[in-house]
Amino acid sequence: MSHKAVFLDRDDTLISDPGYISDPAQVQLLPHVGHSLAMLKKMGYLLVVVTNQSGVARGIVTEQTLEQIHHHLKKLLADEGVYLDAIYYCPYHPEGTVAKYTRESDLRKPQPGMLLKAAEELDIDLSQSWMIGDSYRDIAAGSRAGCRTILLDTPGKPQVREPDDPEPDRRAVNLREAVNILRMVEFQQKAQAARAELQEAAIEPKEKQTPQEQKPQPQEAVEPAQTEFKPAAAKPSTAEKPKAEPLVNAAAPNPVQAESTSTPLVSAVNPDTEQKISTPSARQETPSQAALPSMPAGDMPPSGALHTDKTHQLLEEILHHFKLKHRYEQYSEFSVFMLLAWLVQVLAVFCLVVSIWFGLDRTRGSDAVQTMIGYAIALQLLVIALLLMHDRSK
Ligand SMILES: [Mg+2]
Repeated sequence: MSHKAVFLDRDDTLISDPGYISDPAQVQLLPHVGHSLAMLKKMGYLLVVVTNQSGVARGIVTEQTLEQIHHHLKKLLADEGVYLDAIYYCPYHPEGTVAKYTRESDLRKPQPGMLLKAAEELDIDLSQSWMIGDSYRDIAAGSRAGCRTILLDTPGKPQVREPDDPEPDRRAVNLREAVNILRMVEFQQKAQAARAELQEAAIEPKEKQTPQEQKPQPQEAVEPAQTEFKPAAAKPSTAEKPKAEPLVNAAAPNPVQAESTSTPLVSAVNPDTEQKISTPSARQETPSQAALPSMPAGDMPPSGALHTDKTHQLLEEILHHFKLKHRYEQYSEFSVFMLLAWLVQVLAVFCLVVSIWFGLDRTRGSDAVQTMIGYAIALQLLVIALLLMHDRSK
């Protein structure tokens, strides 16, 4: 039986991207990556990194150094209890400076070569797999390989979409939210399959009836079964990509999760105004503006209406921005435990400083010093306890 996998981009998906990483010491895991990958492992996914490394073709990094960088990445993840099943990289680029690597390649994203190669070597069912990355090249590669896709749409790092780029199946603010989306999709698929099984079980006795038994009430026996069976016909076919989308949206347990499955900018917008704010070009085509030159003076809307329209668009964009920021904060490392830990840590340091001050002051006895050190130790233990609670709450 083939495996399901999550294909992961490397830079700005798993590790921070300072430019071209040319030294293992530059590798830094992004927040909550270890925990998120551990969750994917628990869900039964193979973890396969697919990364463009044009730095090799440009002479910035050698393949040997790249191997060391990836070895260090594996070690950092191993420290968090996670292992990668494979890392595939494409060293080629048509504008390279190293002749050996200067060429076009099907391995280079947005081409799906690395995913197809991994599927063949690791026996991966691509239709059951996902591609997660922070650029439309990742999405295009995943889509062309036949995977479902999640675009990491981090606030402050807008992605430029070319006209030919496919839309991702989902969007998330970071890897942690992406994993949450996968969990929701799997849950919905299992629930749908269970419903279909129950419906089949309910239908079977009717099918076993003899023709004579069915004759008296043919309509009552068949029609309801066909009507109810439609969901089973729509049972997750592995080749259909946006497959579970409507179901997931409909069953999102809270508004934040529902938001995460929608397209940005237009997600919270009234359908009537959706086109107006989706793209700059769309804005130029809004009826109130595009039709103005040919409109008779008497039919022109009052300037107040235009201002109201623009104000409405602006408010919608601000609202969207705050929603995105809220989601990002929700899936970030912050927690009440972390805040308390910081506050208590400040108090612990303060007690330590006071104890030193008391120690230098000859008018103070040793009891005062020991008391303050005792407070500092107690507060420091409290900080450790809060940090442990923070980790468990993730
Ligand atoms: Mg990237």
